[in-house]
Amino acid sequence: MDLYYIIILFLLGINLGSFYNVVGYRLPKGESIVFPPSHCPKCDHQLSMLELIPIFSYIIQLGKCTKCKTKISLFYPFFELLAGLLFVLAYFIFGFSIELFIALIFISMTLIIFISDYLYYIILDEVLIVASGLLLIGIFFLDGILGVGTALFNGAISFSIMFLIKQLGDFIFKKESMGGGDIKLMFVFGLTFGWEMSLISIFIASFLGLPLSIIMLYLKNNKDRIIPFGPFLCIAALIILFLKIDINSVMEFIITHN
Ligand SMILES: [Zn+2]
Repeated sequence: MDLYYIIILFLLGINLGSFYNVVGYRLPKGESIVFPPSHCPKCDHQLSMLELIPIFSYIIQLGKCTKCKTKISLFYPFFELLAGLLFVLAYFIFGFSIELFIALIFISMTLIIFISDYLYYIILDEVLIVASGLLLIGIFFLDGILGVGTALFNGAISFSIMFLIKQLGDFIFKKESMGGGDIKLMFVFGLTFGWEMSLISIFIASFLGLPLSIIMLYLKNNKDRIIPFGPFLCIAALIILFLKIDINSVMEFIITHN
């Protein structure tokens, strides 16, 4: 039975991953998600059902457009695979539960942010609003209306602290130190993990940021030398999610190591 769920979640993950890629790529440009249908950027060849199957289509087409033979970026199948694996990993950790629903929503949000923030330095309000709504539904089924209240309180605290950090940063560096999207994202982190863990995610993100931003600058051939912070915050949050780190375990760790 386990294997059945694993396969379902993997297939769900790779298909949604393919969709999230479109959302993250098109929505910031103000384009429709459904129209025009997916097509080859080079020759405009509209993809058939067979060519739309995640990962599999890339393999049978040998990574090329069936019409003009233009190479398809390896990024697409890789991103779809990543989404599938994260969904399966979430099942291994949370089992078939409300927590799994919350985890899948959270993972979905981070996947879209990876794309939009990486390509356009934008974290979409629409994505944050839809994710928050769905997360709150999950939290309601987990902890009732009181849980929802606590979550909203945590989100507000987290948002406020991040806002103050940004004001301070802008003042010190005399320029925009952080995007507005990052601050709104912290609302969702606070909502999900509590405000304390959302702050810890900033530290983890900064720690990851240094080596990874060097790789990103290299990959992007970045002219403007801007590195979005959102993807690092998302990786940090996924670590917190998957390792089930909460503020109690952090405090315990600090106490026992002192
Ligand atoms: Zn083509």
